[in-house]
Amino acid sequence: MSRTQPQPEAAPALPPPGEALRPEGRWLAEVEASSGVKAGACYGCKKCSNGCPLTFAMDLHPYQAVRLLQLGQMERLESSATVWICASCQTCLTRCPNQVDLPRLMDWLKERLHGRGEEVGEKDIRLFHELFLKGVAKRGRVFEGELMGSYMLRTGGAFGPEAMANARLGLTMLRKGRLKLLPARTRESRWRRALFKKRRGGSHA
Ligand code: SF4
Ligand code: SF4
Repeated sequence: MSRTQPQPEAAPALPPPGEALRPEGRWLAEVEASSGVKAGACYGCKKCSNGCPLTFAMDLHPYQAVRLLQLGQMERLESSATVWICASCQTCLTRCPNQVDLPRLMDWLKERLHGRGEEVGEKDIRLFHELFLKGVAKRGRVFEGELMGSYMLRTGGAFGPEAMANARLGLTMLRKGRLKLLPARTRESRWRRALFKKRRGGSHA
């Protein structure tokens, strides 16, 4: 009996020939040095994209993001929703034959955009990212109750029809032990302070 293989999402369309990209050489080396991601090693096999669980929501597939970086198209890359949609699940890195660390590249881009304080299209995801890091900076661990409460208060999920559904979900998670009533914190706080001091100083290493 033949089994049907799952088909990857179709890749988003690239610009038409009239709008061909103009390669900009300096970016690849600069980003590689700053982020530590060896994007130049990518040879476009698409194994990353074929395994990524979130391509359905992305405007650039992971391999396209790396290709744009190789071509120095930073503006296109930085304005992409993919940077914010990526959930850092590491699937692409696990599959990549060249160990191109895509999640690290996406984190580096997030930090770069954050540092410049610019508006981004995916503002709710950016807010979640910021609240998540704020929790880690405070305790070294995320307190999910606080994270979700702050997020919902600022995005409207704590009011209206969504509020009841969210409250029910929270109670179910509490009952199943997936949410804690009280926050935990790491004992070792030196590394945390050093890490976030570095972040405030704008380093991405
Ligand atoms: S799996 Fe690795 S080498 Fe292949 S396209 Fe993706 S990043 Fe490039
Ligand atoms: S880390 Fe990001 S790009 Fe890579 S597979 Fe996961 S969601 Fe996709």
